Amino acid sequence: MTDHQPPADDRVTREQLQDRVLADYPRLGADDQFQFGCHPGMSCFNCCCRDVNIFLSPYDVLRLKRRLGITSGEFLDRYTLTPVQKDMRTPVVVLRMRNDEAKTCPLLGKAGCSVYTDRPWPCRMYPLGLAAQKDTPDGWRGERFYFLLKEADCKGFEEPQQWTVREWLDNQGMDAYDEWGEAFKELTLHRFFEDGGTLSPQKLHMFFTACYDLDRFREFVFGSTLLQRFDVDDDFVHEMRTDDEALLRFAFLWVRFSLFGEPTVKAHPEVLDAFRGSLDKRALFTPPAREATP
Ligand code: SF4
Ligand code: SF4
Repeated sequence: MTDHQPPADDRVTREQLQDRVLADYPRLGADDQFQFGCHPGMSCFNCCCRDVNIFLSPYDVLRLKRRLGITSGEFLDRYTLTPVQKDMRTPVVVLRMRNDEAKTCPLLGKAGCSVYTDRPWPCRMYPLGLAAQKDTPDGWRGERFYFLLKEADCKGFEEPQQWTVREWLDNQGMDAYDEWGEAFKELTLHRFFEDGGTLSPQKLHMFFTACYDLDRFREFVFGSTLLQRFDVDDDFVHEMRTDDEALLRFAFLWVRFSLFGEPTVKAHPEVLDAFRGSLDKRALFTPPAREATP
């Protein structure tokens, strides 16, 4: 079993994992160098695309479902798992490996990664890992640093190419991924959780739909009275109809508003008055459940 994260068993918490990284892995800054190469023809080519844990961010799912020309629901059903863990704060989505002996990534084609230009964040980052210093007033939003991951079968470190961390990140097109990753962290590391808050199953469902099942979220936005009840800029509404990135931006704002109580979306005052007292908040904030596909 390989992983694009430091080795960990199931009982290791995120905090313990971060502590281990802080203690055991040399830290790299943007201008630090490392030696690495990866190209077709190497004896290990694509061996890292088997039996691997690839955690997907909302932006990964957006890019992949668009690349494959399918809806977010179809993508999630066909290609992912959403493992449920005890004390889980927010849902996680991982690529579901094929059911063959090698547990091959479902996106691996004969000539390599079939979605290469839209491959997920962990596949771009390797051999770099990213960690954040914990002990800051901002919690996990403290100093970020990189470290090198060395998978046992990977021959990439024998290749002669030299990179700085910055060059590698540029080469892998990490900019957009980092930007969306930071916005997503505002949700997963929200003060709500730091203050001991937990999400009910219904709210977890909302979180999942808004962040990962974007086409279902679009149905919720445009198929309900949401846009009559909330004051959303007309141009932004127009953009959201066809632009997945615009819709994901609104989804993040909606999660912050409906789950964490931030004033990121504005309700019309007359709507709040009308609902006050007899408001069924679930009806106001919750999208319909996604039907399982057979
Ligand atoms: S998404 Fe592509 S690069 Fe990532 S594991 Fe699958 S085949 Fe490999
Ligand atoms: S060099 Fe490493 S990253 Fe590249 S194909 Fe081989 S095992 Fe995978």
